[in-house]
Amino acid sequence: MRFWQRRGVRRWVVLGIIAAPIVAAALVGYYRWWAGQVNQALSRTVAGRRVLVDPGHGGIDPGVIRGDLLEKDINLAISLELKKLLQEAGMTVLLTRETDIDLCYSKEEEETGRRKKLDLRSRVALTETFGAEIYLGIHTNASTIAGCKGPQTFYRSASNPDGGRLAALIQEELSKVSPTVRQAADVNNQFMLKTLKIPAVTVEVGFLSNGQDAAKLVRPAVQRRLAWAIFTGTVRFFAEVPEEQPAPGNGR
Ligand SMILES: [Zn+2]
Repeated sequence: MRFWQRRGVRRWVVLGIIAAPIVAAALVGYYRWWAGQVNQALSRTVAGRRVLVDPGHGGIDPGVIRGDLLEKDINLAISLELKKLLQEAGMTVLLTRETDIDLCYSKEEEETGRRKKLDLRSRVALTETFGAEIYLGIHTNASTIAGCKGPQTFYRSASNPDGGRLAALIQEELSKVSPTVRQAADVNNQFMLKTLKIPAVTVEVGFLSNGQDAAKLVRPAVQRRLAWAIFTGTVRFFAEVPEEQPAPGNGR
């Protein structure tokens, strides 16, 4: 008698066939319940949190150039993906630009250095008037050393003590999708990080000067993964750093 023709075995096979859909339905039900719990927890954590996303450069300022690849385009593509993710999670998001423009509104101001200054000041003004709780500047790096690659985050601890935590969490998530030995770095030479007083991070998503990084950075799937990493770091930060409560009233 063959193994599967034995009575005991047949009974188990029949039982298995009957039970499989029930077990599958139970698992799907459990998964839905669990996903609902996660969603609820997520929206409690981040709903209404105000995030300013700043795609670096734009318009006459291309940022880093590699052949026909321009930093400003990569920054914008990732920022638009990031905005989608943050909004879907219930956050209130403002992008400093959603198209290929700079933020110097003076038409006469053609001198590049001066234009850049006004552009950066507009980005600060937008962040402040929006009432952003955190600032995420999105950039692409370059180095004269061709071997330099991988994403890196920057913050300035002297401006805000929580900036370093935000940078570290985003760095951790970025390192998962684009493995690197780079660490979040405390810097003192970036205008946006020096000027803003909220937790502020510059995310350099990779090196356009590195062939491997450049080939990855233009791929929409990679851009989505990088945006996802920045999003996840942001959610983790808000989960750790509670929303500031308004000062208690006069008890009326
Ligand atoms: Zn840049």
